[in-house]
Amino acid sequence: MEKKRIYKFGNGHAEGRADMRNLLGGKGANLAEMNLIGVPVPPGFTITTEVCTEYNQHGKEAVVELIKKDVEEAIAHVEELMGSKFGDKENPLLVSVRSGARVSMPGMMDTVLNLGLNDEVVEGIARKSGNERFAWDSYRRFVQMYGDVVLGMKPKSKDDIDPFEEIMEKKKAEKGITLDTEFTVDDLKDLVVLFKAAVKECTGKDFPTSSWEQLWGAICAVFDSWMNERAITYRQMYQIPEEWGTAVNVQAMVFGNMGNTSATGVAFTRDASTGEDLFNGEYLINAQGEDVVAGIRTPQQITTEGSRRWAKLQGISEEDRASKYPSLEEAMPECAAQLIETQQKLEDYFKDMQDLEFTIQDNKLWLLQTRNGKRTGAAMVKIAMDLYRDGEIDDKTVLKRMEANKLDELLHPVFAKEALQQAKVIAKGLPASPGAATGKIVFFADDAEAWAEKRKKVVLVRIETSPEDLRGMTVAQGILTARGGMTSHAAVVARGMGKCCVSGAGDIKVDYKARTIEMSGKVYKEGDWISLNGSTGEVYEGQVATVDPELSGDFAAIMDICEKYTKMDVRTNADTPKDAAIARKFGAKGIGLCRTEHMFFEGERIKAMREMILAKDTAGRKEALKKLLPMQRSDFEGIFEAMDGLGVTIRLLDPPLHEFVPHQLATQKELADEMGMTLEEVKLACDALEEFNPMLGHRGCRLGNTYPEITEMQARAIIEAALNMKAKGIIVHPEIMVPLVGIVTELKMQADIIHATAKKVFEEKGDTIEYKVGTMIEVPRAAVTADEIAECADFFSFGTNDLTQMTFGYSRDDAGKFLKIYREKGILKNDPFQILDQKGVGALIKMATEKGRSVKPQIKLGICGEHGGEPSSVQFCNSLGLNYVSCSPFRVPIARVAAAQAAVEQA
Ligand code: PEP
Ligand code: MG
Repeated sequence: MEKKRIYKFGNGHAEGRADMRNLLGGKGANLAEMNLIGVPVPPGFTITTEVCTEYNQHGKEAVVELIKKDVEEAIAHVEELMGSKFGDKENPLLVSVRSGARVSMPGMMDTVLNLGLNDEVVEGIARKSGNERFAWDSYRRFVQMYGDVVLGMKPKSKDDIDPFEEIMEKKKAEKGITLDTEFTVDDLKDLVVLFKAAVKECTGKDFPTSSWEQLWGAICAVFDSWMNERAITYRQMYQIPEEWGTAVNVQAMVFGNMGNTSATGVAFTRDASTGEDLFNGEYLINAQGEDVVAGIRTPQQITTEGSRRWAKLQGISEEDRASKYPSLEEAMPECAAQLIETQQKLEDYFKDMQDLEFTIQDNKLWLLQTRNGKRTGAAMVKIAMDLYRDGEIDDKTVLKRMEANKLDELLHPVFAKEALQQAKVIAKGLPASPGAATGKIVFFADDAEAWAEKRKKVVLVRIETSPEDLRGMTVAQGILTARGGMTSHAAVVARGMGKCCVSGAGDIKVDYKARTIEMSGKVYKEGDWISLNGSTGEVYEGQVATVDPELSGDFAAIMDICEKYTKMDVRTNADTPKDAAIARKFGAKGIGLCRTEHMFFEGERIKAMREMILAKDTAGRKEALKKLLPMQRSDFEGIFEAMDGLGVTIRLLDPPLHEFVPHQLATQKELADEMGMTLEEVKLACDALEEFNPMLGHRGCRLGNTYPEITEMQARAIIEAALNMKAKGIIVHPEIMVPLVGIVTELKMQADIIHATAKKVFEEKGDTIEYKVGTMIEVPRAAVTADEIAECADFFSFGTNDLTQMTFGYSRDDAGKFLKIYREKGILKNDPFQILDQKGVGALIKMATEKGRSVKPQIKLGICGEHGGEPSSVQFCNSLGLNYVSCSPFRVPIARVAAAQAAVEQA
């Protein structure tokens, strides 16, 4: 059978369904479903995502040929349902053409509205609607949008001028007006002529008058927009595969700009910031959809309750509010009631918070979209738990609804109460996305990127944001905008990222040219510090102090569900008792990696360490090691105490020794004086430690095998600390880990030293304790010979940082230079240091797992590279049946959710 490429819907019938989102995109699938459940939706059709893939493979002409007949037939279907005709002068049908990928990518791809207009059709629309202004306003918008989107006239950078905006501004100045709504019919007619002239000048071609030519142009532009830079950046950020493609939705236009009985808006069935069960949203009378999201006019609230809250935040009196900014409930009570009923119906049906787009044309409500709404981490947790408690979803669905990485937002500091009392509020906007952000003011996304690269904390301040600002928003601590409501681009995208955002702070004056912002009568410059409170919408002067958040209630309930289903334990990578305690609070089941070298950098210790490194012989080294022993022992005692009852994996010294010695003359001189050496001697000794490839040099167990006394000291410190803690009644499970083993003999020699030292300490102390000796698997040879290595290891811990480095042959320190380009060129889909390369590195892990278990079925297996806290990598570990993953303390909850999700999905 011929592949079906187009799915029609309308009038309560649809060829598609909600569960066909892969093929129809999220928007198309839900438009179909809304038809099936009796929600009013303008008729139309969806061109599948597979066609997008065909488009990218075979090109425009081939695909147009392929779907031409079907599109013509689908338009005829819409004509029949609407009782009008596409391109007809007397009774014309206009359509919208929108993108719609599998997952929503707000604002990243293109849309064209009011399509089908030309100089004759506009007259037909004017006659049919009895509203000449509306007809010409639609035509003006269409030429502008089509010019921008399809004909490529959209400005490419912040310095380019939008030719259409320039013409409009000039016209406003001529007429002495400020708002678009003040244009007369004649002004709009003039604008259309001027816009078309601008098109001719820019593109060298006349604006297309044929409706069909317009339609094909728009369909292809939407497919093209899948490959635009913004969309590519967004996909990279959210790991959305390029192969997915976007669908194209063509629908009969309904008009929110037909006069004062028409409106358009967006709404959420619950609060997307806090998760509260509060229907909320914004609308504009006599407007089209893009006016609401673009943040050009400040929209009004749908519910009266929401409107009152909004007015309070803005400092607007109830009288002013009711007369100037009425809610939809007040302005159009019948349509509002119908909308409230519909939102409940949709939420009950989809059993999740919905994000809706609607249009009211001449007092009739139409739904243009419903989708699961983007939300903050806090809202994600609350909404799922509320629906669970209401019996709407089960606990496995709660788990499925968790975007593991988003939990991170709940774990980070909030403003300290006392600090807030002292803080000076300099502006107020809408609490668009919660959080506490402090940073230096920047005005442009590229500056935000450049400053962030230099490790500066920035707050991105914009009049309004556009999808071009995405990268800048990603690196900023927070975002402040002068215009735009709770559903503006800035707000929606910030919530999606879990980034603090205050939007629509109407009283601030941003001057891009001078790079200044005026707030409460004071001028702040680029580089000045400000703080944003995304939960209240307040903007403070300077830096405001923060504290740790509360982690009980719903968060704890989610963690309990994880505990119920997880098969793997989650441990933590922690080097200090403080980090260990934080991780334990988050539910870590032990330490998977304690990097002992970090302890050597503190205070006086580095001196003893340097003495050890620069010692001329074994006796000198032993002398220095004696000084280090008590320090290490007390560190381990602290960590054992914090992890009372849980396993603690301590790794022997790993980094190349040159990392510990001074490289500057002044510090070398100091060291020389302290050690009674000449500067020359110290310099020579330090230079001798230089290596061309230190990461592949004298490090890991190669240190312990060349200087066994180091291993001896560390083993002694661990066993003595364990016995001391045991004597205090603390339950200690020490696991000693040998790094960078590639040959079984390397491990064997280290294990011999450890066992001999432990034996000695047991005799000295007259007490014993159980301990394990294992190894990291981070050299490919170790993975390949894991059966031999398992013979003398109680456990393996996959060090996927080094294993990735050595499998790819990419230096961990230098790969940044080319990884970005490799990803842009599609050579790599992801950064393999962040997301485990399952095909290559993963195959080595699988091989080592199987080989290890073949000789020692009960061998304990875990992972402690950075990947141990990355959800897709955690899922992979679960599929191999590893015993645990280990990650930094703040990623413990993320890994717990990912591990539980994997257990449920892979069951
Ligand atoms: C690893 O290589 O994955 C690892 C955990 O060790 P480090 O990052 O300390 O080299
Ligand atoms: Mg390593």
